[in-house]
Formats: sequence, C-alpha cells, structure tokens
Amino acid sequence: MPAEDDKLWLEQPVIALKGIGEKLQERFARRKLFTLNDLLFHLPVRYLDKTRILPIAGVRINDSALVRGELLSCKTHYARRPVMTCQISDGSAMLILRFFHFNQSQTQALARALEEGKWLSCFGEIKRGRQGLEMTHPEYRIIARDQLIQVQEHLTPVYPTTEGLSQTALRNAIAQVIQQLKQQQKNNSQREFITDFLPEPIRRELALPSLSQSLLYLHEPPPECSVFELTEGGDPWRQRLVLEELLAHQLSMKQIYQQQTQHKACALRIKSAQLFNRKLSQTEQNSHELTNSPGAKNSLSAPFLQQLPFTLTQSQQRVVQDIAEDMRQPHPMQRLVQGDVGSGKTVVAALSALFAIENCFQVALMAPTELLAGQHYDNFRQWFTELDINMAFLSGKSTARERREALEAIADGSAQMVIGTHALFQDEVNFNNLGLVIIDEQHRFGVHQRLSLLAKGKKQIQQTMYPHQLIMTATPIPRTLAMTAYADLDCSVIDELPPGRTPVDTVVIGQQRRDEVLARVHHACLNGRQAYWVCTLIEESEVLQCQAAEQSYELLREQLPDLAIGLVHGRMKAAEKQAVMTEFKEGRLVLLVATTVIEVGVDVPNASLMIIENAERLGLSQLHQLRGRVGRGSQASACVLLYGQPLSKNGKARLMTLRETSDGFEVARKDLELRGPGEILGTRQTGLAEMKIADVIRDQHLIPKVNDIALRMLRDYPEAVTPIINRWIGHSVEYQNV
Ligand code: ADP
Ligand code: MG
Repeated sequence: MPAEDDKLWLEQPVIALKGIGEKLQERFARRKLFTLNDLLFHLPVRYLDKTRILPIAGVRINDSALVRGELLSCKTHYARRPVMTCQISDGSAMLILRFFHFNQSQTQALARALEEGKWLSCFGEIKRGRQGLEMTHPEYRIIARDQLIQVQEHLTPVYPTTEGLSQTALRNAIAQVIQQLKQQQKNNSQREFITDFLPEPIRRELALPSLSQSLLYLHEPPPECSVFELTEGGDPWRQRLVLEELLAHQLSMKQIYQQQTQHKACALRIKSAQLFNRKLSQTEQNSHELTNSPGAKNSLSAPFLQQLPFTLTQSQQRVVQDIAEDMRQPHPMQRLVQGDVGSGKTVVAALSALFAIENCFQVALMAPTELLAGQHYDNFRQWFTELDINMAFLSGKSTARERREALEAIADGSAQMVIGTHALFQDEVNFNNLGLVIIDEQHRFGVHQRLSLLAKGKKQIQQTMYPHQLIMTATPIPRTLAMTAYADLDCSVIDELPPGRTPVDTVVIGQQRRDEVLARVHHACLNGRQAYWVCTLIEESEVLQCQAAEQSYELLREQLPDLAIGLVHGRMKAAEKQAVMTEFKEGRLVLLVATTVIEVGVDVPNASLMIIENAERLGLSQLHQLRGRVGRGSQASACVLLYGQPLSKNGKARLMTLRETSDGFEVARKDLELRGPGEILGTRQTGLAEMKIADVIRDQHLIPKVNDIALRMLRDYPEAVTPIINRWIGHSVEYQNV
C-alpha cells in the first residue's frame, strides 16, 4: 500500500467508526476529538489493573484492585441518605464495601441482590477506613464460589474525558482505530502500523521505540507491564511521544519564523556611529550629520542619546546592536527583548523607533492596556518633541475628534510615532508607511494578533513589504522554556539593571498590623522619603479598584493628617493624573495612594518605600513589577506586602517568593511552577498549555534536544515537517497560513 494510506484513513471523522452517531460525535468534538487521528493520539492519563485478582491482604491503599470474596454481612442504615455496608472476605483479609443511594428502593434492590454467603468480584479503589480496608461503590459482579473470573489481557486505559463522554465510548472508539490499523498492517505486511514521519537517521539516534510501538504500548499495555511502570512517566514509550509532540510545536513555530523571514522588508540605513554610547563632540556630530545619506533625515538617534541623562548599560547596547543589525536586513526583524522590570526597555524601544523614523518610516507602538499606552505616550512625548517628531495616540477611549485627527495623521504619514492599544488593529487604521511595529508586554497578546498587525503593515507598504517588529516582555522566562515558547522569534535579553539601584528589602506582614506599617510610613515621610501606597482588588473592575483607592486615600488622610498625600488612579483624566504625578515627582506630595496603575512606567527615584495592600490578590509577576517602582534611587528601599486573611497556600507561596528573591528570572520560574505555562505565557501560547501529553515544565530537559532536531529537520528533511505538525497539532493551528 502507498506509504501514507494510513494517514488518509486517519483523517476520517470519528463518525466513520461503528457505534458513533451524531450525538456522540458532538461529544467527542467537545474534547477536541474530530478525526480518527485525534483518537489515536488521545492518550490515557492512567490505568486500571484488571489483569489479575489480588488477595485482599495484598492490595495497596489508594490503588485500584480487582478482588473476590464471600459476603459475610450486609447492613443498611439511614443517615441523611441510605447507606449500605457489606463485608467480604477471601480468607486472606476482610474488605468493607460501601454503597450510598438517594432513595430507599435502590438500596432495597441492592440488599436483595447481595445476600450473605454469595460470592462477589469487585473492582475499585482501596481506602483505609475506620474499620479497615474499604471500597466505595465498587464495580461488582456476583459470581459462583469457584467461578473462574475472566480477567483483562492488558491494563485498562483511563482517558481524559469530559461530561457526557464515557470511558466505555472512548475505549471502544480508540480500540476500533487500533484494530483497524493492525488489520491494515497485516494485510499489507508492513513493519509499522502507522507511518513514522520522523526521519530514519534521527529515529536511530534517539534510540527510542517507534511511534507505532509507543502508541500501542500506551493504549494497550502488554500483560507483563505494571501500572507503576506506566505512571512514573519516565518510560521510553511516553518519552518518544512527548519528544515528538514538543517537536511538532517547535516546528510549527519555527515554520512561522521561516515564512516571515522570506517576506521582504525595507533594509534601513543605520550608521554604526549612531549606536555609540557616548556623547559626541560637536565636530564629531557635525561630521556625522554630513555623512548622512541624502534623502534620509538627519540622525535622530545621536541627539537623542545626547539628551539622555545617562549612558546605556552594556546590555542595552548589545540589544540595540542586535536590533540595528536586524533592521538593516531586507526582511522583517522578528525580535523579542526580554528584560526584567526596570532594566530599561523603553529607551531601547525609543532608539529602535528613531532608526525607523530617521529612515522616513512610521512606527507603531502598541501596549496591552490603556494606561500603559498612555504612559508610553507621555514618556515618548518628553523625548521626541524636542526632536521635532510628530506623534499620535489612539485608544478605545479616544474621543471621536481625537480619533478622527489621529486616523488622518496616521493615514497621511504626518504622525511619525503612533502609540496606542488594541485600537491600532482596527480596520480604519491605515498607515502611510509603517516600518516598525513595537509591541510591549507581548505575553498578553496572541500570536494571531501579532501576525494580523504585521499583515496590516504589509498592506500599507506597496503590498509587498512587511514592517520590522520588536516585541518587549517584562516576564523573563528560563532559557529552555524560551526556546519553545518563543521559537518563532529571535531573542535578546537585557540582563543587567542600570547602575545605582539598591536592593529592595521586602517584608510580608498581616493586615492586622496595619497600624505599625502606618507608623513606619509616617516616620519615613517625615524624614524626607517618599512612599507609594498601592490598593488592589480581586475584580478586574477598574471602577471598583478606583473606589477602593479613593477610600484608602480618605482614610490615610485622616490617619496621617500632617503628610501631603496624593491620589492617582486609572479613571482620572490624563491631565489630572499627570499633575499629581508631577507633584509627587517634585516632592510636594510625599505619599502617593495609587491603584496598580503605577505598575508600569512610573519613575520617582526618591520614592523608597512601597506598601501593597492585599498583596495576596495579585500575581507574582504583577507584584514584582510593582516592587520595581522602588529601589531606583541611592537610598535603601523597602516593600511591605500587607496581606489579608485567609491566605491561601498558593498566595503564601507567592509572597514568600518575593520576600526571598528580587531576580525577575527566578520570580518567573516560581510563577510558572505555581500557575503553569498557560497563565504565564498567556493567550499567545495556548498551544503550549494544551499539549496532549507533553508538559513544558516537566519535560523541560528534552527541549534543547528537541530544538536541535527541529533545526536539523527544517534544514535536511523539510518534507517531513508539515506531516508531523499536522499529526500533533492539526486542527488547532489556524494561524499557519496567516
Ligand atoms: P522597563 O524595562 O521596566 O520598561 P524602563 O524602560 O521604564 O524599564 O526604565 C526604568 C528606569 O530606568 C527609567 O527611569 C529609565 O529612564 C531608567 N534607565 C533606563 N536605562 C538606564 C540607564 N542605562 N542608566 C540609568 N537609568 C536608566
Ligand atoms: Mg516598560
């Protein structure tokens, strides 16, 4: 038979199987099981051992076991509902069976069936009860005393399922698929019952079982195999599949990367002199301007660097160099910059923007929230107005007039630097010549959104050119994980903080000691320090959060009447907010009550104390971001995490982590451990969070190897790439063709 017949056959919908009608098909679909292939790759989460009958004395607590025994007694008593308790014995030990029912007649029927002296075979989970070993609601059958019990040939798989989809339905369907494949294999005297797309040389190197062997082993473990062997996770069969699934994900993302590299983009002229991290002398600057290419604007990045009150850190310089090198290429940059909070990503973004603007291109900077976008706008305006750069702002909250003006300026090209939120995605937004897209905090954006923004850029530049793209994230993740999560991007890391930062001393204190904290704030503020008081709320509701901040503000003014206290929250007008911030920056306010608005962008070096109320409500990385607002000056800083009761185990773990470390990578690692990759990497990486059997955290150690194989496959075996992706990811990758 042609090599890929099994592949075609496997693409049939589940309804092609016996016993599956439309209703069941719909239930399978809820579990994302559409095709026979999906069924084949739907692997058991655990197994039941019905392959042998255990003596009751030989069972293990918490394991499921098949036992047999004689009914010694059956009693019914009535608590809130009827409970029937039976005792059985096989001579080796006694076991209690418990049945709970909602009504009397069920119990009575059971009591009639279970008479003392009868023999039963039972299967269920063994628990230790007050009176000894117990099983609750076992599967049972009444048998003859000496009856030979038919045991299963192999372990019984338990599949991940969903409401309304029974194990029996799943087992039947999957068994049919395997049966058919075996039959086909036999008819065609093939070695494997399903085509292995992993190239032969790579398979040989891995020295793991084949795909067919692995699937068969896990769906229908052989009789000699033990539950223990299969649940420890380290078995070679599962390893083989985990590796292939991780590989499929890597390949799908690297394929996106490759497709992008084949697009065209404008190669920018960026003079190396512009990257110099020192003040140019006047003559140097003049000569530099003379060497600028005709047509291109004068260098903007050089004067920008000059006007900065600091020099770039080594890390920042390295990253800027990576970016400049990318943007000089005739295909789009796809770079991710990871950097801890406070590492200075904004300046890097600004420089990149200037490279594009001095080459006469527009730049779009997109932030995930209104507030972040607003803060970037304020920041950039301070830097860019001096350089005579026109800016535009667009968000969901822009008024009709602001919006119309922004759209016009974007379309006719007069807005050189455009900052906004998701609103930049909208259809009415037409750039004149977009050359660079900067996305801040990308973990909150999906890969789809990112690609659609790029497509937008493409539309504008003669239909053939794509903009360069720069993505910045403040959630640094461990290297191996980044290899998988960001396999579609080139990564740069800003791995040092600007000089002069002092470590923040973090303390965790219960809400009941608020008075002590208040005294501490009072003392600090009277001694020339400034402090933030951050209010949090569980709900994502901005309104409620602002109300909470207003209440705290009133309360603090009563309690600390001799301090100048300010309030800033998201619902204040931009100008009001700005005014308060300025007063705080200039030291006229000493205590600033704020919502998590200040999570980003706020920079007041003299502020050296931060109190976060109900810190347990916030996620690790958000707390870490907030804390990054202090420790920017030369004096010792402190962050007080006030928590309310009850404090969950997880909440406690978060607060303890912050107390113990200030390293963003370490915080991210812990966050991953506590919340899992889905939450941390956000919508962008739902694929990673929804893997069938691999677990990017548990299986991290495989990632470097997978990465290596992926690169080799793209280079040496490109024809095998798509089949592997389709097999594992198939229907869930709608973005492949974007
Ligand atoms: P983040 O990476 O969190 O976005 P920012 O870009 O907001 O960090 O930078 C944090 C602060 O550090 C800002 O006040 C910025 O002006 C300052 N900063 C950035 N780079 C340097 C540097 N090389 N030297 C000193 N201060 C710097
Ligand atoms: Mg930032």
